[in-house]
Amino acid sequence: MISDVHCHLHEYSDEDIEAFTKLNMLIIAVSDDYSSSLRTLKLSRRYTWVIPALGIHPWVIKNTSMNEARTITKLIMENKVKIIGETGLDTRFVPNTIEYQRKVFRYFLEFASEFRLSMNIHSPNTWNEVFESLLQYNIPTAIFHWYTGPQHLLKEFEAQGFFISINPALTIQKRHREIARIAPINIILLESDGPYNYRGLNLGPHMVKNTLEYLARLREIDVKELVKSIENNFYKFMKLSGLKDFKFKIALR
Ligand SMILES: [Zn+2]
Repeated sequence: MISDVHCHLHEYSDEDIEAFTKLNMLIIAVSDDYSSSLRTLKLSRRYTWVIPALGIHPWVIKNTSMNEARTITKLIMENKVKIIGETGLDTRFVPNTIEYQRKVFRYFLEFASEFRLSMNIHSPNTWNEVFESLLQYNIPTAIFHWYTGPQHLLKEFEAQGFFISINPALTIQKRHREIARIAPINIILLESDGPYNYRGLNLGPHMVKNTLEYLARLREIDVKELVKSIENNFYKFMKLSGLKDFKFKIALR
């Protein structure tokens, strides 16, 4: 079964989401703030294939308060959510709010550390700092989404049981393609980051299957073999997140 481990499902219309059911995928639905966290939760109750992640996106952090972060952690507790996301730091696109980003991220790190939650990470230009923080707080596992950071960290991710997710943009973004080509196979997951338009690509869960096929060609391996590896990685991520008994069965051979 193919999984999209980073999708802003809350941004789609109910009709679009209903149509995604036919894709027969598992989707980790990340949130941007409190109101999108509520919608994500609603969708996870409606669809067995939706795994909720709640958090505050670094891009919208300037519109949020620490109180909003606290209400989100309350939602996480009440609903037994196991993944915080989207969360992280970003000095490439939103350098002006970095100090406040750090404050909110630290709050989520402390919370994740205490309750053994995993993280779905946004980290443009802050990869090292974010990685160090995850280690410092002893976070059980994390997915570095759309990873374009330093290649030397890939081996460290592998050693820590962390993952990266490969975005359909690898077809046009050389830096990401190179990461996808060389990353250890046991840290690779797939994502869409939909709905987002990247240089003309309308990113969405429908693209993940093509990404899988492209990636198999890029790495010169059999598609079936790649599917199997990614399924195993996904299962491992779920297990480390405390979701091994999740409501749906994950096809494992
Ligand atoms: Zn995202």
